[in-house]
Amino acid sequence: MNRERFNRRKKTRPIFLGDVQIGGNAPVIVQSMTCTDTRDVKTTVAQIKKLEEVGCEVVRVAVPDREAALALTEIKKQIAIPLVADIHFNYYLALLAIRMGVDGIRINPGNIRPEKIREIVKVAKPRDCVIRIGINAGSLEKDLFVKHGGPTAAALAESALRNVALLEDMGFTAIKLSLKSSDVPTMVEAYRAVSSQTDYPLHLGVTEAGSLLPAAIKSSIGIGILLYEGIGDTIRVSITGNPVSEIGVAYGILRAMNIRKIGPDIISCPTCGRCEIDLIKLTEEMERRLAGMKAYLKIALMGCVVNGPGEAAEADIGIAGGRGWGILFKKGQMIRKIKERDFVQVLLGEIEQLTGIRGQ
Ligand code: SF4
Repeated sequence: MNRERFNRRKKTRPIFLGDVQIGGNAPVIVQSMTCTDTRDVKTTVAQIKKLEEVGCEVVRVAVPDREAALALTEIKKQIAIPLVADIHFNYYLALLAIRMGVDGIRINPGNIRPEKIREIVKVAKPRDCVIRIGINAGSLEKDLFVKHGGPTAAALAESALRNVALLEDMGFTAIKLSLKSSDVPTMVEAYRAVSSQTDYPLHLGVTEAGSLLPAAIKSSIGIGILLYEGIGDTIRVSITGNPVSEIGVAYGILRAMNIRKIGPDIISCPTCGRCEIDLIKLTEEMERRLAGMKAYLKIALMGCVVNGPGEAAEADIGIAGGRGWGILFKKGQMIRKIKERDFVQVLLGEIEQLTGIRGQ
């Protein structure tokens, strides 16, 4: 692996969403978006609390109407992470959301006229409200669509830079950018293009990525390629379904790229004819029991003692199965023999000793 390339994270200018730094030397921040009706404060707050529990660091909520905007103050009061209001085309809702005290807004400039953006900036600036310029392939400005023959990567990048210039002209620099497309190569090329021309922090994501498996695949490829190249300051994995699952995938991507070490890194073998324990059940149960654990730990679940401990020598802790039993090992060293029916409890106990955290 070309380590030098990997380690060269692009330096961006820092901005602050509430007390969370994005860009600069901050870690890559994990975001999500609620799928509740924002007007329903109780349900929305409950979902945000669940997101917080599993490590979400910034949350966005849709603001489709005045009632949703008016709910923002109460939502913000009840949550611990920065709140971003997602505005589609109604600049009035952007103004209202900012006045309700959100930490940031996401606007799609293709849908809002420049003179209205000026009004948004006027209200956002004195309140330290961040503006995410959210360029989306589906709502590109018409002239750029015509010029580039569609929502190409170059068109998305030009749109982003045009809107950066617009905000800068108004003296506004608390900006982050996203250039989302459901087409992974377009998304990658758009972020690359814009990253080479600006140092504003970038919010990475593949939009409309589908349900859990396709979304995890598309996001891992799109976000992963860019992170590998040092591009990206905050990420969102968009999944059709409960957003809580977005966070696990997001941290999985960051762990796989050695960018942030958070949560259990479960290494399990694919099993083969040598496997004599129910490894699939064990793996699924451990994933479920450790979901949301923030401490980083490499846990190996291997099907046989012949290859298991050697193949997972770098794991903090692991089990290699025999017939109805297994060997507990730590950092490649065999510790003791345990019965298969005790695997989960023994592992949870050992993990608690190592991290101070008991799985569910
Ligand atoms: Fe097969 Fe053992 Fe390798 Fe698992 S660890 S795939 S059971 S050889």
